Amino acid sequence: MKTISFFDTKPYDKEYFEEIIQEYPYEIIFHEEKLNARTAILAKESEAVVAFVNDTVDQKTIDQLISQGVGLIALRCAGYNNVDVKAAYGKIHVARVPAYSPYAVAEHAMAMLQTLNRKLHRAYNRIREYNFSLNGLTGFDLHGKTIGVVGTGKIGQIFIDICKGFGMRVLASDPYPVSGADYEYVEVDQLLREADIISLHCPLTNSSHHMIDEEAIGKMKKGVYIINTSRGALIDSEALLEGIKKGQIGGAALDVYEEEAEFFYEDYSNTIIQDDVLARLVSMPNVLITSHQAFLTKEALRNIAATTMENIDQYFKGEKLTNEVCYRCEKDPSTCHKKTGKPCF
Ligand code: NAD
Repeated sequence: MKTISFFDTKPYDKEYFEEIIQEYPYEIIFHEEKLNARTAILAKESEAVVAFVNDTVDQKTIDQLISQGVGLIALRCAGYNNVDVKAAYGKIHVARVPAYSPYAVAEHAMAMLQTLNRKLHRAYNRIREYNFSLNGLTGFDLHGKTIGVVGTGKIGQIFIDICKGFGMRVLASDPYPVSGADYEYVEVDQLLREADIISLHCPLTNSSHHMIDEEAIGKMKKGVYIINTSRGALIDSEALLEGIKKGQIGGAALDVYEEEAEFFYEDYSNTIIQDDVLARLVSMPNVLITSHQAFLTKEALRNIAATTMENIDQYFKGEKLTNEVCYRCEKDPSTCHKKTGKPCF
């Protein structure tokens, strides 16, 4: 029986994958370790591995997996910035789950904005200590405010619909605008200058890395709110911290953080956190951080398990990998074998 090594396993992953594996003639071996060059050896008897957002799928890990005969890296997430797709090309297939519930992430982004704006995180703690004072809890109406949405793909579009429901003016930026959109596309600079709230919904690439840096923050309205449910390294965290300290940024809601791989998804409540930027951000009343949980709904977990297993099944059957990610597809899609109904190489 073909086996699959599953890395960075959490109880909620196991619950949904154990249910769906019953439908397939394969076995899953669950590992709690994150996948990296050192832990790749755990997959020595497997033909495929399942990896997640904070696994380190660099050249060394890829070479190690290939030397053990692993032929597929099945990501159980949409983003693949943690995979060296160039190193993988031609040697090991990579597949992802392009969409599992864009609603989960868009709804979480709005939940974070609402919590931060109406100070629900602070109100909750106060009431638990029978402090019924409202001092310092003043928010603002979202109605009539301008929201700048960077990235109008699946999640960005749903987030825009939600914002429109609140009566907000939407400014959007995307190199590939949606045709016939009922909101305004503008250059990034205009979005930065005019938005009261900026929400990031684009992927992390070489060109989007630190798109929110000191210079970008300097162009924003004083008191702007920033929401990031996309990828941590879209924001230069030190510049963000400085912007908050100076009052240029009025609040930040972060589901992702550029150095999150070391901390997120784990319990460090008995430890002294060594990341001073993270510790300082956590301590601020106008910063709300969640631990990369925007995706975490029942619907999303069910869809992630279903699509990941479909990807693995296609690979084991030698069929076209519908959700394959490959270097050649990105460089020149016209030359990729996927067009002819085969795996990319
Ligand atoms: P998508 O591919 O449907 O849309 C991304 C959009 O961003 C595309 O329209 C693309 O043209 C645009 N884009 C690319 N570079 C850009 C740039 N520099 N400026 C502006 N727009 C740019 O992706 P999606 O499903 O909407 O997901 C968006 C991101 O959300 C993913 O890349 C992932 O990083 C993140 N995500 C986070 C979670 C979470 O749990 N926090 C879960 C899923 C996805």
